[in-house]
Amino acid sequence: MLFGRKLFQLTFRRSFHVSQKLNQAMGIDGNNILAESLKRQGVEYVFGIVGIPVIETAMAFQQVGLKYIGMRNEQAACYAAQAVGYLTGKPGVCLAVSGPGLLHCIGGMANAQVNCWPLLVIAGSCPEDHEGIGGFQEWHQVEASRQYCKYASRPPSARLIPLHVEKAVRLASSGRPGVAYLDVPATLLTAEADEDKVPLEYYNPEPVKLGHPDPALVAQAAYVLAKAQRPLVIVGKGAAYGRAEQAVTKLVETTNLPFLPTPMGKGVVADESPLCVSSARTQALLQADVILLLGARLNWMLHFGQAPRFDKDVKIIQVDITPEEFHNSVKSEVAVHSDIKPFTEALTQKLAEKKYSLQPASNTWWKVLKEKQVANAKFVESQANNTTVPLNYYAVFKTVQANIPKDSIIVSEGANTMDIGRGLLLNNKPRHRLDAGTFGTMGVGPGFAVAAAMWCRDHAPGKRVICVEGDSAFGFSGMEIETMFRYKLPVVVVIVNNNGIYGGFDKQTFDDIQSGGDVAQCTPPTALSTEVRYEKMMEIFGETGHLCRTVEEIEAALKKALMVTDKPSIINILIDPQSNRKPQKFNWLTESKL
Ligand code: ADP
Ligand code: MG
Repeated sequence: MLFGRKLFQLTFRRSFHVSQKLNQAMGIDGNNILAESLKRQGVEYVFGIVGIPVIETAMAFQQVGLKYIGMRNEQAACYAAQAVGYLTGKPGVCLAVSGPGLLHCIGGMANAQVNCWPLLVIAGSCPEDHEGIGGFQEWHQVEASRQYCKYASRPPSARLIPLHVEKAVRLASSGRPGVAYLDVPATLLTAEADEDKVPLEYYNPEPVKLGHPDPALVAQAAYVLAKAQRPLVIVGKGAAYGRAEQAVTKLVETTNLPFLPTPMGKGVVADESPLCVSSARTQALLQADVILLLGARLNWMLHFGQAPRFDKDVKIIQVDITPEEFHNSVKSEVAVHSDIKPFTEALTQKLAEKKYSLQPASNTWWKVLKEKQVANAKFVESQANNTTVPLNYYAVFKTVQANIPKDSIIVSEGANTMDIGRGLLLNNKPRHRLDAGTFGTMGVGPGFAVAAAMWCRDHAPGKRVICVEGDSAFGFSGMEIETMFRYKLPVVVVIVNNNGIYGGFDKQTFDDIQSGGDVAQCTPPTALSTEVRYEKMMEIFGETGHLCRTVEEIEAALKKALMVTDKPSIINILIDPQSNRKPQKFNWLTESKL
């Protein structure tokens, strides 16, 4: 009823707007100014959940040609919007209602900010004249958002909305990308402004020229690399975001330098390149004497760049768009403030000069790395070829990898699922892996997959999205399956189901444990129900999912799922709940020595 009334109001307002236009009166309300402003800044996708006061806002967005995708939880909408930001370089918008709506976005905002991904969150808020007297869903939204943002504001009038939208988009996507928040009270959204006085055209910035490196620093970097005995290039997601794939590929190919991608740096140079030393990662980090760090931070993911995981005397050539990042955790030998692409192009040129030619000693280095790669490949093969039921992770991922298109976008989250999958699910193209990222957030997968599938639909038709989820991870945002159905997105959701977080129990053991006392006291915190039939979620949409226990069943399920082009599929793979990864030389979360 309420919705019907609102719809009527909107229609009325629009026709009023049109007739006003005819009369040359030119009134435009906040919703339409916001929609026009986003459109003019090149925003393409909005993900959200509507309610008071943003129902008309979403409709206004659609009317100017923005794509609006309604999700089932604001957190997932926020994950989707930031994935689009990473994939396209333009922030996706997350639209939420006031109070709890915006608060549900905060996890997503923090995830985008920590990942350095562009995102614009817009939330309705209670009418300004209800503030301070207990308005519906009243919350201090600008203050609540600020610490997760590069920019947070409430446009002070409808006329000034374009200025704030331009600034929000600019700050989210330039420099180190991050999050912007715009607060739009109900009263602002319905406020009318004189169209002539709304500066829609004025704020239309030219693209900023990429930051180029100081040539002296390029020469210095080339000099340090030329002296190296055991050089290594680390390719981070900054290189992916900076669209430096061609430049970085050319650099490693012309120099024969070994490279190591970070999880989302995978694919900037093809994983299948012979120069990729992912399978000798520990050794490469441990022994490298010079590391060229392209768009990655020396945080926990890279063990802080410190011993015992790195040589204590390693020389780091650090290239980043953010000078504040320099010398963080370890002092860099050369710190170059530049966009990755122009720096890498300049370095490749420099290294072609005779006086900077790389050490022939590099050959011994390659021998060390190759030996390690061969040993590791042997281990992985032996695990992957063990197809005993219940299956282990390696056998599952080998089968998935062999049966999906090589240019698929891989979304991946979970503990073992993500860690082991990273080595076996290959990316040969940049920005084709979306995972729990720097913040290690669980629940991102389905939202990322919705965004990636939308992007494929519009910009890379035929490309597939494979969303590989641990069973625990899937539980966080599993209802987004309905979103995938509603928008006809053919995401292949693969659930690697081990009955728990990290690991669970087989049915008999789990039942025995639970029969031992109060379930709240004896159920292991890492356990989930055994053999949950997640694939049956398909049945609520009148479809059938796939339950797999064997390699052959996985192959058959993938084949069927990949033939479907207008709806998602769920492949639920029951694996050995005790399956684990290869024993590691170091604990994955190495302690900082500081
Ligand atoms: P990873 O997770 O791959 O290790 P991080 O997110 O830790 O990567 O680091 C990415 C780094 O890349 C950030 O320090 C960010 O400032 C930087 N960065 C982002 N875009 C660019 C770019 N176009 N050029 C250079 N550096 C960039
Ligand atoms: Mg699990």
